[in-house]
Amino acid sequence: MSTTAQEVWLEDAARKAGFGGTAEFVADYSLKPYRLSQLYRAATKELVEDVERVTVLPADVRRRLGETNFRFESIEPVVVQRSSDGQTTKGLFRLHDGNEVEAVLMEHWGDRTTVCISSQSGCAYACAFCSTGQAGYTRNLSAVEIFDQARYFARELKSRGKKITNVVFMGQGEPFANYDAVMDAVRLLNDPNGFGLGHRHITISTVGLVPQIERFTAENIQVNLAISLHAPTDAQRSSFMPVNRKFKIGELMRACETYVEKTRRKIFFEYVMLENVNDDDESARALAKLMRGHLYHVNLIPYNATPDAPMRGTAEARIRAFQRILDDAGVPTTVRTPMGRDIAAACGQLRAQTQPRAKAAL
Ligand code: SAH
Repeated sequence: MSTTAQEVWLEDAARKAGFGGTAEFVADYSLKPYRLSQLYRAATKELVEDVERVTVLPADVRRRLGETNFRFESIEPVVVQRSSDGQTTKGLFRLHDGNEVEAVLMEHWGDRTTVCISSQSGCAYACAFCSTGQAGYTRNLSAVEIFDQARYFARELKSRGKKITNVVFMGQGEPFANYDAVMDAVRLLNDPNGFGLGHRHITISTVGLVPQIERFTAENIQVNLAISLHAPTDAQRSSFMPVNRKFKIGELMRACETYVEKTRRKIFFEYVMLENVNDDDESARALAKLMRGHLYHVNLIPYNATPDAPMRGTAEARIRAFQRILDDAGVPTTVRTPMGRDIAAACGQLRAQTQPRAKAAL
């Protein structure tokens, strides 16, 4: 039997409080099963700040839980910055071992609020245009550390009478390199008895790890899949995305075709516009050829400046010309609106700047 979201959450909370696991925790406190559900619901559905405030629990239970360090939070906000237009908020969070990650809240005009969460501290894939990739990899996050980024912003929004409508796994790290924890985090986000966000409101973005795309296909869930393609030919893609040396475009596109065939779901392809690298007419035509006739959508992403990447972004007029070629070929496209550049919160800018990483110290 697969683990439920509540089991994932409780096991994590029990271990954080110093127990060997849920069983030991339950025995120690002689907690009835419904008390466990109350704790879980308070943290994930009612978004209660911490255990001391769960009023349905008897006062002595609350006190004892507090004393043993039973906490709801697994991440601690260190710096929270808001962009000058007020639409983007970036949180820098410290994990229990001192590592840091970032997550970003985007409040679009209208009712849409998207939280972009990290699945790893740092990233091992070293895409040349991405600040996270340039800074290197630290470690995988646990399912609850991932989930808690959404919980943090959900609580903050709730205090203003708002809600999260979408979660995207597009922060630091490669979600499919931390597959099991990411899928458990999806369970936590989705659980109708808990956080309750519909699968269709969740998007996982991958650099293109083929075995995991196949595994994800077999899950047959309605979570959206996005692929960071960024180039239509192997020569181009390998020149700035080292992962392409392992999984070539042909193999990647075959896995994508199978995904659409089996799930009947659309795939989103991300394409960052890099001046004189991948933004010429020929690239647009090659991309159109890869996309045409499939249930695919292209997201053109204006390049966001990163400290050590030597690249420049494509000018807006060229982005539009590139888009027109895709339009003419019947490929659906959108141009992503950059958000939070002034607080380094836009795509590719997340690198948790307060602590130098190993690579930066060399
Ligand atoms: N590792 C996953 C999740 C990160 S998603 C993935 O690669 O899909 C973040 C998205 O922003 C990716 O599509 C990434 O390629 C893109 N990106 C990275 N650096 C960027 C930059 N400097 N400007 C714009 N987009 C960037």
